[in-house]
Amino acid sequence: MQKLTSERDRIWARHEVYLRERMKVEISDRQYLWWDWVFTTHMESAVAKYLTLIFQLASRDSHGCLWFGDHARANIKFQKKTLTAYRFAYGIATVVPLSQTQLMRHECNNPFCVNPRHLLTGDQKDNFRDHLATQAYGTRWELLRGWDSM
Ligand SMILES: [Zn+2]
Repeated sequence: MQKLTSERDRIWARHEVYLRERMKVEISDRQYLWWDWVFTTHMESAVAKYLTLIFQLASRDSHGCLWFGDHARANIKFQKKTLTAYRFAYGIATVVPLSQTQLMRHECNNPFCVNPRHLLTGDQKDNFRDHLATQAYGTRWELLRGWDSM
């Protein structure tokens, strides 16, 4: 319960910053605008859904990965939009609108994982580089920040 409360507080603090800073540059990307709409008008239910996903639906393993879904890249639905659960988790956890061209990268190389601390944004080139690096070095768990150290 303690963790759930502090995660909620952390997100709302970020949200305050977002509302102050939003739309300083002109954006036409449709997905970006969807996120902005969520942050400005549906944040309450988005945070509730996020906390349920992270703390109730997902199950955590010894690496800190939060496994969700019965197949990789499982989707969830929010406000009539279907998106991968990990993309939703990252967007809400960071309160950063994602654009159509931004892909999500798993630092843990686990496509089931919805832990926002294991996710980064990037493009296709980054994804390919991640793939090559993993083949070369394996997953470097020691570099991943654990949930508890945040
Ligand atoms: Zn993970």
